[in-house]
Amino acid sequence: MLTDTHAHLYFPEFSKDREAVIARAQKEGIDRIVVVATDLGSSRAALALAQKHASLACTVGIHPNSAHAAPPGFLSELGEIAAHKKVAAVGEIGLDYHRLPSDPEAAEAEKDCQRSTFRAQLAFAREQSLPVVIHQRSAWEDTLAMLDEVDNAVRCVFHCFGEGPERLQELTRRGHFVSFTGLITFPNAPLAHASAQAAPLDKFFLETDCPFLAPVPHRGKRCEPWHVRLVAEEMARLRGLPLSAIDDASSRNARAFFRFAD
Ligand SMILES: [Zn+2]
Repeated sequence: MLTDTHAHLYFPEFSKDREAVIARAQKEGIDRIVVVATDLGSSRAALALAQKHASLACTVGIHPNSAHAAPPGFLSELGEIAAHKKVAAVGEIGLDYHRLPSDPEAAEAEKDCQRSTFRAQLAFAREQSLPVVIHQRSAWEDTLAMLDEVDNAVRCVFHCFGEGPERLQELTRRGHFVSFTGLITFPNAPLAHASAQAAPLDKFFLETDCPFLAPVPHRGKRCEPWHVRLVAEEMARLRGLPLSAIDDASSRNARAFFRFAD
């Protein structure tokens, strides 16, 4: 049994065959899927899906790229959704400086907006005693600085981890987790391979980030939750461990990390 800890099942890519996708995952032994939100609308959609399927849990949160569109009262809305027991974490939240506006003043304003939205949601997670799914892109130092601001008192997973072992250590030293996607099956991802080999056995889990990042040999096609099986196989190969050891560690760590209702 294996958990896909990061799936965007409410995306339009799944609107034609969502039920079949969920059934296929179960048939392949994926016994739990965490549906990860990126804004208020998807937080509600993720909860609706999770309420419909026993094998699904969900998160609530505002992605950094949606921070500018968050309404002023977004925290109280997140709070209402997070009261439901199917909500397993806050996420995905964080910082993404990858595509900032070219005008320096506009870029600074965008960073400020992302930081204040992230800061507010870290405080929210702490208040709610919920763990946090972190999205970080081209903003490593700022992200860590903001976690240090709250004394790393919220348990975080850096999802779709593609950084090298030194950065991995910066996280595990702070008590945080990492989660690996199909990226580790790509031949041109040496840092991700090195981290997949170096991650402590009690500090990682696995995900798809579907519909994105389909693992080899499905690269470039729509990704779906059963593909986490291929991520686990690559992880076992990279570490020279039996597949069952990877399945066990990943599922056990996910259970320890998330607030699952059962
Ligand atoms: Zn995602």
